[in-house]
Amino acid sequence: MAVNQEERAYRAWNVLAAVASKASGLITYGELGAAINVHPRALRYVLGVIQAYCLDQKLPPLTILVVNAQDQTPSSGFIAWDVDDLPEGLRKVRNYAWNESENPFLYASQGETEEALAAELDSDPGKAADIYAQVKVRGTAQSIFRKALLLAYQGRCAICGLTFEDALQAAHLIEWNACSPAQRMATCNGLLLCATHHRLFDWGYITIAPDHTVYYIDPMGRDGKYSSADSQVSTALHGKKAFMPKDRRHWPSAECLGWHYKTHEWKLHAM
Ligand SMILES: [Zn+2]
Repeated sequence: MAVNQEERAYRAWNVLAAVASKASGLITYGELGAAINVHPRALRYVLGVIQAYCLDQKLPPLTILVVNAQDQTPSSGFIAWDVDDLPEGLRKVRNYAWNESENPFLYASQGETEEALAAELDSDPGKAADIYAQVKVRGTAQSIFRKALLLAYQGRCAICGLTFEDALQAAHLIEWNACSPAQRMATCNGLLLCATHHRLFDWGYITIAPDHTVYYIDPMGRDGKYSSADSQVSTALHGKKAFMPKDRRHWPSAECLGWHYKTHEWKLHAM
């Protein structure tokens, strides 16, 4: 069976959070390896998972605390910080209240992985509430939600069809802070959108009607100058049908689409 790096990250996170709470806390590769029972040379995979999470969530670079025994400096690959100002990075990590939030890899403590939970959500959308309860942490929930939407939408933007995976994001119809816990991970409250359409959608420039028609706020392009690139991602898509998942259980619900439409409706009439 493949090594579950997320489960290791769960254990390493607890150790690093404790180290961060000490005034001048640092930990060597050897010490961290011994603490979580992983060979020091294999730690880079674990630290990679943690560093990616910190970067993604704009958290201080927790992995900066892991240093080489000889010179007490971190490996350049895990600084995620301006190398010319390591003391500032360390200060940020030590000042952050790591113990006030859940370990983001909690779900992995029982051997789960993000991929497996996303696949579960894809095959049974009704499990959204259970999976959210298991995950708890917003950043992790968002990441699993995105993976599930990638599966449901077969990796293409619902509005334009773009398939560059790294540019595809999970959008919520009813915003995170306004929806129920179950809706936070319910695929029927989500859309897979490229970064541009995600932003335009969140700002209400674009919405999707109950019959899945794409609406752009300024269909005739009257408001200001449109370059041909602007038109391609906006006016040209007005009136087109959005790409929907094959499995209808993942289709956006009328309730969720209605919420987005109502929230931004005034803008549609303002043009
Ligand atoms: Zn798009």
